[in-house]
Amino acid sequence: MRNRKSLDPDVLFREAKKAQKNAHAPYSKHKIGAALRTANGRIFSGCNVENASYGGTVCAERVAVFKAVSEGLKGPITDICVISSQKDPWPPCGFCRQVLAEFATENTRIFLANPRGITKMFTLGELFPESFTPTHLK
Ligand code: ZN
Repeated sequence: MRNRKSLDPDVLFREAKKAQKNAHAPYSKHKIGAALRTANGRIFSGCNVENASYGGTVCAERVAVFKAVSEGLKGPITDICVISSQKDPWPPCGFCRQVLAEFATENTRIFLANPRGITKMFTLGELFPESFTPTHLK
């Protein structure tokens, strides 16, 4: 059973902000950080990793998801916080929404933040309705 503190999005904000500092963004100059929480309370963070080929670039959200999966993700992602330096924070791109749909639920909370804090919250169902998920392939 998760307690109230374990649902605190500020923990994710702090972890996302830490990860943002590690972003490799020499081309866009936009450093992004993300931190997610799994159903069993583990937290994984990521930053955007750009590439000179551009197509090899991976967003912060997907880096965090891939880290979680590669380290044995159990159960769905319950929350994710994404931080950018824009006053009006950037939401996850379409690729990231699709990847989140694979490992999250429609109730997964997505917090958008700028350096001062979280400014918006959506569920994955709100940001990515009628998504194509593993259930379609059963
Ligand atoms: Zn993305």
